Amino acid sequence: MSVSLSSTNTRVVVLDIEGTTTPIEFVYDVLFPFARAHVKEYLEQEWTSESCRAAVALLRDEHAAEIAHNQAAPAAAWVDGPVAAQIVSVAAYVGWLMDRDRKSPGLKALQGEIWRSGYRSGELRGQVFPDVPPALERWRAQQLDVCIYSSGSVLAQQLLFQTTDAGDLTKFLADYFDTGSGPKTSPDSYRRIAEACAEPAARLLFISDVTSELDAARAAGFQTLLCIRPTNPASAYEHSHPTIRTFDEIVD
Ligand SMILES: [Mg+2]
Repeated sequence: MSVSLSSTNTRVVVLDIEGTTTPIEFVYDVLFPFARAHVKEYLEQEWTSESCRAAVALLRDEHAAEIAHNQAAPAAAWVDGPVAAQIVSVAAYVGWLMDRDRKSPGLKALQGEIWRSGYRSGELRGQVFPDVPPALERWRAQQLDVCIYSSGSVLAQQLLFQTTDAGDLTKFLADYFDTGSGPKTSPDSYRRIAEACAEPAARLLFISDVTSELDAARAAGFQTLLCIRPTNPASAYEHSHPTIRTFDEIVD
């Protein structure tokens, strides 16, 4: 199908990353294993750096909250002993969070820092589907704002779009939102994003591969598009969102 933006008075396009701009496999087969493989090395090298201290402080608070709320407690205790022992305990907790694909701010911060070093060394390069760069250019030409809303940290989002084979795409991006705006399945998160964009929610279009996210965006008044990429898992339940398979289907 083709979708017209001008007929709906769209002013801002908000994009999900994983499964929408970027193959899910990039996240699960490249980024996550990279973070897992390098977490201990990163902690050892950066232990005293400000960004590492900040991420570890977040993780420490989250670990304590987890115990306090008596949730499925992490197997390993938090250790405040010699640095080497601390690093082992932080790495164990990070592994526990990654095993559960937790949307933890501390984990996201730490992963962002690990990925930053990978992108900097050239070991990592951001991946987007081939229809994404031309769509960003079209939307720029139409004077639309394009924002990202992803559960990966803002830093991780920027690194991904800076290092694609099509070049640095961040020049097309007006703003970035992560779980600091709230969970992707909560309508309030989308209300905050509309407010940050200083546009009525009806002027914003959210594109994602996950129907529960689109339901939340729609509840906040957004327009929505379900993006179905070749290797995305089939949507398991009924939905009423317009559907695209590539951004080429979005016309002026
Ligand atoms: Mg997604």
